[in-house]
Amino acid sequence: MRYYSANEYFKSIFKEKTYKISLDGNMSCPTRDKNGNGGCIFCSSGGSGEFSIKKSTDIKSQIDDAIKLVKAKKATKYIAYYQSYTNTYQSIDYLRKLFFETIEDDRVVAISIATRPDCISEECISLLKELNAKKKVFVELGLQSASDDTARVLRRGYLTKTYTEISKRLRDEGINVITHLIIGLPGETESNLLDSINFINDKTDGVKLHLLYVLKDTELEKMYNEGKYVPLSMDEYLRLLSKAILHLNPKIVVHRLTGDPPKRLLVAPLYSMDKKRVINAISKYFNENDIIQGQLFFE
Ligand code: SF4
Repeated sequence: MRYYSANEYFKSIFKEKTYKISLDGNMSCPTRDKNGNGGCIFCSSGGSGEFSIKKSTDIKSQIDDAIKLVKAKKATKYIAYYQSYTNTYQSIDYLRKLFFETIEDDRVVAISIATRPDCISEECISLLKELNAKKKVFVELGLQSASDDTARVLRRGYLTKTYTEISKRLRDEGINVITHLIIGLPGETESNLLDSINFINDKTDGVKLHLLYVLKDTELEKMYNEGKYVPLSMDEYLRLLSKAILHLNPKIVVHRLTGDPPKRLLVAPLYSMDKKRVINAISKYFNENDIIQGQLFFE
């Protein structure tokens, strides 16, 4: 069984080594702001993006600082990544200025915008289309699960049908959609996970698979302390991850195989703190089960 890794995909479209740099668009999200419900149960106050460069509002300085941080990777091209919070949750003028300034930097070959489907208006789709005509645009949608029942537990704040509509609209306009799914959600079984995989198989260009981890000061931490949530063991994560990959449409690019928790906030499972160990365990498990990186389809 082969899966299409992001490394291979980026090499095929950018022809040289690219590296993602995390930037801060200084936005919030609808489940966190004054009308919200306190945020998704797993989300830390950093808005699921503890690694982005903060403080400077000047995009050029943010890009300079972010590139300095990843100098050792020796990349020459960069994908500007707006990860924290909901990066289309602002006025269209604000977004236009921010995103155009970002892609006008010669070192940036693409822009990746993490957001929610209920925060993408038609006006926003037009803007993304304009940007995409100049430099490649990826839109990352935090679906987490295709189940609306699970979404309610997570306090995700929108229905799955909104994801379906918006991912279609974006893809119809030629914009690359990356869908985030979480493995080990409260109340979810292997069958729920495979339902989510089957659901996205014809709705996305890429996927990011994450392990659910418990962070300090979240609703999930309370559930964990009360014994209402038990995190996955590493063996169980490896098994479920492999199942997910085996059921995934092989045309879908796999951008992530696990999460990367902020160490200072991690409560459980503690093995996820050592990302290298988890990645090595995934590689070993995949090798033993004949799951290999390799592009199957050339279009
Ligand atoms: S995961 Fe995203 S949508 Fe949910 S609270 Fe965090 S920033 Fe908001």
